[in-house]
Amino acid sequence: MLIDDFIDVRLVDIAVPDALGVNDQHWPFTATVQATGAIDPDLAFPGNSQFFTALFGVIAQGLGIETLATGRAVLTEIGTEKDMTFVIGHARTLADHAKKKQWCLYPATSAGIPVYMDDLSATDRCVKCGLCLPHCPTFTLTGNEADSPRGRISLMQWLEASPEISQGFLNHIDRCLQCGACEAMCPSKVPFGALMDTARTRLAPQHRQGFSNRLLAGIGSRVLASPRALRLAGPVLGGYRRLGLPALLGKLPGTVGRLNRLLSRKTGAGHRLARPAGNLPRLHLFPGCTGHALDRQTLYDAQQLLRARGYDAVISRETACCGALQQHIGQADRAAALARHNHTALGDDEVPVISIASGCAAHLQGYDAVDTLDASAPFSSRVSEIMAFLAEQDAATVRFDPCEEPVGVYVPCTQRNALRQSQALFDVLRWIPGLETRHINPQGGCCGAAGSYMVTQPAFSDALGDAVVERIIDSAVRTLVTTNIGCSIQLQARLRARGIEVEVIHPVTLLLRQLRSQ
Ligand code: SF4
Ligand code: SF4
Repeated sequence: MLIDDFIDVRLVDIAVPDALGVNDQHWPFTATVQATGAIDPDLAFPGNSQFFTALFGVIAQGLGIETLATGRAVLTEIGTEKDMTFVIGHARTLADHAKKKQWCLYPATSAGIPVYMDDLSATDRCVKCGLCLPHCPTFTLTGNEADSPRGRISLMQWLEASPEISQGFLNHIDRCLQCGACEAMCPSKVPFGALMDTARTRLAPQHRQGFSNRLLAGIGSRVLASPRALRLAGPVLGGYRRLGLPALLGKLPGTVGRLNRLLSRKTGAGHRLARPAGNLPRLHLFPGCTGHALDRQTLYDAQQLLRARGYDAVISRETACCGALQQHIGQADRAAALARHNHTALGDDEVPVISIASGCAAHLQGYDAVDTLDASAPFSSRVSEIMAFLAEQDAATVRFDPCEEPVGVYVPCTQRNALRQSQALFDVLRWIPGLETRHINPQGGCCGAAGSYMVTQPAFSDALGDAVVERIIDSAVRTLVTTNIGCSIQLQARLRARGIEVEVIHPVTLLLRQLRSQ
């Protein structure tokens, strides 16, 4: 494979300016690209060969990729002048493909495809090898091929060929967690997540939604998209809890009872967030749609920890939901609108954006594909998940008290499969002297939270959550840390349902508790 993750490759410059004005083969030219993914330059084909360049253009066109030009590319970040051969094509976003074209670089030898697409032709890249099947949580539960990545790709291929679908078809598509486990290990680099988003967007008009889906769609479009509503949600939910309503209404069956059981958690609602300090390097701390209402403890602790490390973590009043929930339930237009809104709210000032939730961080890093603002640098380059950000800091500047209690670590799917930064979590926890971490899911797996999935797919969600709870019990820990609010809500609810007392917190909360007074 020429490039491990071609999505991390960006076009910086192109030596033939009018190359972007032709819609045909146009070679040779030299493009300069930046690569943040893992690259093995020794595997690169010599790009100065017109034969290879032309050949790869033909292959790309044969694969249905709309090819603009092929040529040589010089990678700027690997410190070598080694050429690589690329095909350049354009990707249309789902949201406004009529108005916008985005230029993408495709490594020629793997004939890559864009993050967002307006058709399902990339399903053809699946060679049906089945290597993904043992990694799929839903296939592991049911053993049904239609609940596996390979089976779902076959369903999408059916959808591409025929609009005729059944309720059973929809069920197998709906049961996908979008956990990314299949995509992370697929040797053919099938972009499963983008394909599933595309399929769900296409199916949305003919999908007769149940009550829970309609409820979530309403919340997603009205509350989560409104910064003012999100800020008000904290005090409103605080009052709701003080009246004891989640415990009372949590006894009801159905979606209302389930939502209330999930809401029965400590949130740190009373914490007063810090005002801007003014004299320290600034960061944007991204609260997402849950930070103020459901995870104020983590917001507060993250601010304090970053302040101790010499940063002023500012929380914008104008950001809304990151859009991941809307993207994954087939509302691509709304997700794109939220991307533009949040980018505007966070400005074009290159101030780093730090997310307290791995799920938001993974989605924010995908904004480049839908965002239409003219930014001086790709938005994704500003975004970090907070543990990944801390892992890049000098560990010696802040001291921590030892911790003698072992702590369980649950790595969310978004941290492992989307961000691919599981190690950062363990690296930062190692700053606490003597801390023994017990990895709850070293083999992967999903807790069944998956955004709205924990409400819309109760049976699958509970089964997956309970399997993780078994591993937490086996680990004999009294404290569990995890970097995604959805996983935290889900695991707390499943632990409560089993009558098991394990505290579930974000790792920044543990770090702040152990932070030594300087
Ligand atoms: S999605 Fe990838 S791993 Fe799974 S069957 Fe297809 S090619 Fe193989
Ligand atoms: S995203 Fe997760 S649940 Fe969906 S098919 Fe892939 S591995 Fe299975």
